[in-house]
Formats: sequence, C-alpha cells, structure tokens
Amino acid sequence: MAKQAKVDKGKCIGCGSCVALAAKSFKIGDDGKAQAIVPAGDDEATVQSALDGCPVSAISWQGN
Ligand code: SF4
Repeated sequence: MAKQAKVDKGKCIGCGSCVALAAKSFKIGDDGKAQAIVPAGDDEATVQSALDGCPVSAISWQGN
C-alpha cells in the first residue's frame, strides 16, 4: 500500500499550499482546513513536496 499522509487540523492554517503542490492528495474541507485524500492520487515525491512545503509542518506521514 502506498504511504498515506495526514493533516493535523490543529496546526493547519488553511493556506492552500499543499493543495497547490499535490492537488490529487489534499483538499480544503468545509472547515477551511486541509485534509488528505485517501488514497493519495500523487506519487510519493509529490506528496513529500507538499509535506515539506507546509509552512506550519501540519502534514506528516501516517504511522510516523
Ligand atoms: Fe494546511 Fe499546511 Fe496544507 Fe497550508 S500547506 S493548507 S497549513 S496542511
């Protein structure tokens, strides 16, 4: 199974960066915070770029 990312909604500020970087793996929910799309639609490197690009480090790999 592909690695899955998760968003800590307590940290997320809804900036939209992860959606811009990996639109098939993250979306902004009704609460204005990002959420991971399951299963992620981008390859692992693309999801990693969103993880690295989050200004508040709200995204992590599940299981980590
Ligand atoms: Fe939230 Fe980080 Fe995504 Fe911005 S990049 S919407 S702060 S999870």
